[in-house]
Amino acid sequence: MQTDIEIARAATLRPIAAVAGSLGIPDEAVEPYGRYKAKIALPWLRDQEKTGKRGKLILVTAINPTPAGEGKTTTSVGLADALNRIGRKTVLCLREPSLGPCFGMKGGAAGGGFAQVAPMEDINLHFTGDFHAITSAHNLLAAMIDNHIHWGNALGIDVRRVMWRRVLDMNDRALRDIVQSIGGAANGFPRESGFDITVASEVMAILCLSEDLADMEARLGRIVVAYTRDRKPITARDLKADGAMAVLLSQAIQPNLVQTLEGNPAFVHGGPFANIAHGCNSVIATRAALSLGDYVVTEAGFGADLGAEKFFDIKCRQAGLSPEAVVIVATVRALKMNGGVAKADLGKEDVEAVRRGSVNLIRHIENVRQFGVPAIVAINHFVSDSEAELQVLRDIAEAHGSHAILCRHWAQGGAGAVELAEAVAAIADKGAAQFAPLYDDGLSLFDKINTIATRIYRAEEAVADPSVRAQLDRWEQAGYGHLPVCLAKTQYSFSTDPALLGAPTGHVVPVREVRLSAGAGFVVAICGEIMTMPGLPKVPAAEAIRIDAEGVIEGLF
Ligand code: ADP
Ligand code: MG
Repeated sequence: MQTDIEIARAATLRPIAAVAGSLGIPDEAVEPYGRYKAKIALPWLRDQEKTGKRGKLILVTAINPTPAGEGKTTTSVGLADALNRIGRKTVLCLREPSLGPCFGMKGGAAGGGFAQVAPMEDINLHFTGDFHAITSAHNLLAAMIDNHIHWGNALGIDVRRVMWRRVLDMNDRALRDIVQSIGGAANGFPRESGFDITVASEVMAILCLSEDLADMEARLGRIVVAYTRDRKPITARDLKADGAMAVLLSQAIQPNLVQTLEGNPAFVHGGPFANIAHGCNSVIATRAALSLGDYVVTEAGFGADLGAEKFFDIKCRQAGLSPEAVVIVATVRALKMNGGVAKADLGKEDVEAVRRGSVNLIRHIENVRQFGVPAIVAINHFVSDSEAELQVLRDIAEAHGSHAILCRHWAQGGAGAVELAEAVAAIADKGAAQFAPLYDDGLSLFDKINTIATRIYRAEEAVADPSVRAQLDRWEQAGYGHLPVCLAKTQYSFSTDPALLGAPTGHVVPVREVRLSAGAGFVVAICGEIMTMPGLPKVPAAEAIRIDAEGVIEGLF
C-alpha cells in the first residue's frame, strides 16, 4: 500500500497560477511561493468581495474521535473534490498544520490517502512562513514587556501578573514552565513564565478572526498582557507593540492558495488550537473562498462539541457567516471506541459496540440542529469496516432524521465521495438552514459557559470557584462582558473526563481557570487538564523521518 507521501508525490500538480486562474484570480493578484503555493493579494480579494457574490458555506465536523483523528481533513478534501467533480465550483478552506503533531504522534494535517492537499511536505513543514511570522510577532510583544520592566516599568506592570508567555512551534515539554531573566541585573527581573506552542498563541487566533489589516492591528492592540498592582489591564497598545506586530504579520495575513491532488483550489490559512482558541482557518480565507466559489467546504477542529460549537459561536458570530450545511464525519472504529471497545480491538467486527457507541453520533446530530443548520453524516470508510457495522450506522442516522452516506475518498479520491457531494449540494441549494448562535451577546460570561455546558455537553451545570467567578465579574466591569466564550476541554468526551465516552449525562463541567483573549475577542474557560505546550510521545514520528540524497522526504504522514 502506498503511503500518503508516496501518493502525494505521484500526483501531477498544476502550476499555482493556473489554479488561481480557474477561480478568476488574475496573475497580478497571485504572489507565488515556489511553483505550487501562492499568497493571494488582499486588496484584490477585498475588491472581489465587493462584487457581492457569495457561495454556500459547508462545515465539516466529527463525532468524538480516537487519538488518531477520524478524517475531517481527509473528508473535507474528498468532499471538495467530489463537488467539483459533479460540476459545482467549490473551494476548500483548511487550517495550516503545526510542526508539533508532525513530529509527534498524529502526523501532518494535509488529509490522507487520495484525498490530500499538496504539496504536502511544504504544507506540513514551513509552508509560506506564516507560523514563523506569528511566532515572531508574539515573541516581540514578550520581549517588549520585559524590556519595558527592565527600563523602569513606567506602566507599573506587576511582574507577578504578566500573563503573556512566549511561543514556539514545537512539542517541547521542557519549556512548559521556566524561570526567565536569571543571570544578574543586566538580564532583567527573574520571574516564572513558560512557552506555549505557536498554534495556542492569541496572535494566531487574532490573525484568523481579523477582517483586514486595520482590524488585525486594532485587535493586536487590545491584547491584555499583564495587570498592574491594582489589577488594571495593560495592553499591547500601552506598550506600543501593536504596530510592529502588524508589520511582522502583513504577509502572513494574506491567504495561501494550494490545490488538492485532483487540482482543485484550496486555501490553507491559519491554524488556531481548537481548545483554548476557536480552531478554524482564517475568516479572510473563508470570505475569499465564498467570493470565488459557489460552494465552500471548511473544517473545524476536534469533535462537534468543541469545533462546531466554536465555529458557530465565535467565528460565524464575529464574521457574520451563515453556514448552509454541516457534515458530521463518523467512523465505525470511533463509534466502537465510544461503545467501550479497547483501542487494540477496534479492527475486529463488533456490531453491538457500534450500536452502543452511536449514542455519541446521535447527540452530535441533535447538537448541530440546535444551531439551525441541517446535518448529514459522512461515514469515512476504513478497510476494517464490516457491512453489518455500516448498516447499523445508516439505520441510526435515518432514525434520527439524518442520512449517513458511505464515503471512500481516502481510497478513491473525489470519485469515492460523489454520493455525499450530491446530498450536500442538495441540502445547501435548498437553503433551509436558519443559522443562529447558541446564546446572545448580552448573557453574562458565566451564563454563556453554563449554556454550552448544559446544552452542548449536556452536563447538569458548570461550576467554578468564587475566585473564577470574581475574575469574570471584573472583566464584565472592565467592558469585556459582551464577548463570546471559548471552552477548553478534552476532545474525547462530551464531559471533561476523557474516559467518559458515548453520551454521558449527570456530569458537571468544572471551570478551573479563565483567561481573557481580548484581541481575539473571546474569554477562555479552561475545564479539565489542557496542555498548551504538548510533549512528544515515547517514540516520536520524527525518528522515522528522513531525506535521501535526491532530496526525497520519507516518513511524513
Ligand atoms: P482529522 O482532520 O479528523 O484530525 P485527518 O483527516 O487528518 O483527521 O485523518 C487522520 C489520519 O487518518 C490521517 O493520517 C489520514 O491519512 C488517516 N485516514 C483518514 N481517513 C482514513 C481512511 N478512510 N482509511 C485509513 N486512514 C484514514
Ligand atoms: Mg484535521
